[in-house]
Amino acid sequence: MNVADIPEVPAWLADHLRDGGIEELYPPQAEAVEQGVTRGDSLVASIPTASGKTLIAQLAMLSSIERGGTALYIVPLRALASEKREEFEEFERYGLSVGVSTGNYESDGEWLSSCDIVVATSEKVDSLVRNGAPWIEDLSCVVSDEVHLVDDAHRGPTLEVTLAKLRRLNPNLQTVALSATIGNADAIAEWLDANLVDSDWRPIDLRTGVHYGQALHFDDGEKRELPVRGNEKPTAAIVRDTLDEGGSTLVFVNSRRNAEGAAKRLAGVTSEALTHEEEERLEAVADELREVSDTETSEDLAECVEQGAAFHHAGLASEHRSMVEDAFRDRLVKVIAATPTLAAGVNTPSRRVVVRDWRRYSGDVGGMKPLSVLEVHQMFGRAGRPGLDPYGEALLLANGHDELDELFERYVWADPEAVRSKLAAEPALRTHVLATVASGFAGSRSELLDFLDRTLYATQTDEPGRLERVTDDVVAYLVANEFLERGEGDSLEATSLGHTVSRLYLDPMSAAEIIDGMRGATDATAMGLYHLVCRTPDMYQLYLRSGDREEYTMLAYEREAEFLGAMPSEFEDGRFEDWLSALKTARMLEDWASEVDEERIAERYGVGPGDVRGKVDTAEWLLGAAERLAGELDTGLAPAVREARVRVQHGVKKELMDLAGVRGVGRKRARRLFDAGIEDRADLREADKSVVLGALRGRRRTAETVLENAGREDPDMDGVEADADAAPDPDPADEEREVEDQASLGDF
Ligand code: ADP
Repeated sequence: MNVADIPEVPAWLADHLRDGGIEELYPPQAEAVEQGVTRGDSLVASIPTASGKTLIAQLAMLSSIERGGTALYIVPLRALASEKREEFEEFERYGLSVGVSTGNYESDGEWLSSCDIVVATSEKVDSLVRNGAPWIEDLSCVVSDEVHLVDDAHRGPTLEVTLAKLRRLNPNLQTVALSATIGNADAIAEWLDANLVDSDWRPIDLRTGVHYGQALHFDDGEKRELPVRGNEKPTAAIVRDTLDEGGSTLVFVNSRRNAEGAAKRLAGVTSEALTHEEEERLEAVADELREVSDTETSEDLAECVEQGAAFHHAGLASEHRSMVEDAFRDRLVKVIAATPTLAAGVNTPSRRVVVRDWRRYSGDVGGMKPLSVLEVHQMFGRAGRPGLDPYGEALLLANGHDELDELFERYVWADPEAVRSKLAAEPALRTHVLATVASGFAGSRSELLDFLDRTLYATQTDEPGRLERVTDDVVAYLVANEFLERGEGDSLEATSLGHTVSRLYLDPMSAAEIIDGMRGATDATAMGLYHLVCRTPDMYQLYLRSGDREEYTMLAYEREAEFLGAMPSEFEDGRFEDWLSALKTARMLEDWASEVDEERIAERYGVGPGDVRGKVDTAEWLLGAAERLAGELDTGLAPAVREARVRVQHGVKKELMDLAGVRGVGRKRARRLFDAGIEDRADLREADKSVVLGALRGRRRTAETVLENAGREDPDMDGVEADADAAPDPDPADEEREVEDQASLGDF
């Protein structure tokens, strides 16, 4: 189908697509149009990676907006929200507005009502529904990206319930669900009352196979020599072979550490193949990477990139990730070693894909677990750049003849699994039953069961009594914890506390833990509060490594008096272990709130800078929730919780709380100002300007902004000389960066 022949889309779209090099729709896209995706009909599109799902979503959203509606695009990961926004922002020049909803859970996102397209995670959408965002009812089109993730035990249920709620709020809603190729796309389509495009078509041929010994074995029976040198690993041999053909390789491994290790080793291979010009350009990229942050991870990444290799995982800052992806697309970086977490959403095709590790550690089974066929096929799908490569090649690696056979059976020839709802698991239902009652979707047990009947779970279960049974258990738990109340007959109502918990987007079990810990306490230290929120199921705790158990057991006894709630005995294995993991996580937060350098923290706890930020954000949110609960329960702890929250939010000791809250100040500058005798906002408004300028190392523009944000009437720095006595001791790393900053500000 020619782009000029797509019905019901805005008139500008055909030219816009042609400008981007798209003349004809890909066959699955044409089929989607024939199935009514631009006429407002619901659709499930189950097609391979890189086969143009995004355009199908855009056709649905744009035609819906053309008819006067608004669209919502649900992303599976927060990290993908900004990428999608960037993709959709190209429509702003035609007068459409695009908004991303991230951040604070407890708000109704009022401003989003003026957007034509909103991008959000399913958790965020769920929370908007809970907070009664009125514009949600006016939506005309919702797109769910990577809908096969309803199968995910942790996040799937939220997606499932959210789609059910949106469809209930607006029975005419067009639902477009995009999925990788799965075994039962028809079941998803049936659940969503949608038409179905289920296709294997790909824009570029894909050959899959296994490397074993000295050869590649392909799915079509062909065998091709690919020798591995004596002291070489097979991955290195494949990367070298690909480079000889002028191509690049994407290597999937099973952990962040392995990604970093592989990238460092493979850098030895890629560095041999670089031209002088490439080396220079890579050095420039490496410098940019170093500027993002001054951590060890950032330095490691820069060193790899200088040699033409990179690693990619969710522990990297998002600027790092996009710089790496750009350099890979520009064919400067020749190999990326990646964890699969973000692979699904990131558009980085390459000549060859190597799935080096087909097993991954799983906490659920307490050991290594094979990847699903679906996951491996999604990674395979990144092979081949349309228009650049004759075909893509995706490979697994076998160590022995038996493994060669096993990998063919297990992945190469296998069909992807069917997707199954995980809603009937208790933790999922706990959260969603409370929210469903609290936000008025159900007012009784029977209405609750009726609502749950619209979920994928209900269409899939062959054990009809199970959902009812688990629901009853969960209701009993929520009643016992005073989040729900039983009324006449089988009616149910949320208590005021229950409403708060639902709006705060807490797992009721987290809320119960926090409430229990705070009850009866008259005072609390920051450590006590950090530990409390780190114990909840809403915080992913740091793992205990070997040797940690002893260290943290000692620390637990030392600081026992600070804990809110009784410490379990050392002999209660599982519970004690959890307590220690929470303690490790809490101490990391305490370090952060004591102004320890980000780099030191990353090193001390063996995590990436992205992880530190992630834990800090979660802690800030949970402490905000605890503050609300403390207020509601009248415990008198609210001021202590607030202090702990503000300290973790800015990463500062108590005395800097006020200063660090001024926009443009932050933890480092707050410390410098404080050391120069400026202790709070009021001081900033009154202080001698030369002292402010000195403490901020002579940076006029910064000083002016800071003074303005502190509410000073005359922030102007004209003619002010920096007070040398106020200047902080030099910190070599900062110094270097500052020179760059100043140069770019033209501020000498
Ligand atoms: P998916 O989401 O299915 O993995 P994408 O939507 O990211 O795939 O599309 C992959 C690439 O194909 C994108 O770079 C996109 O611009 C391109 N593309 C999509 N549709 C067409 C088309 N009809 N003709 C040419 N290129 C297309």
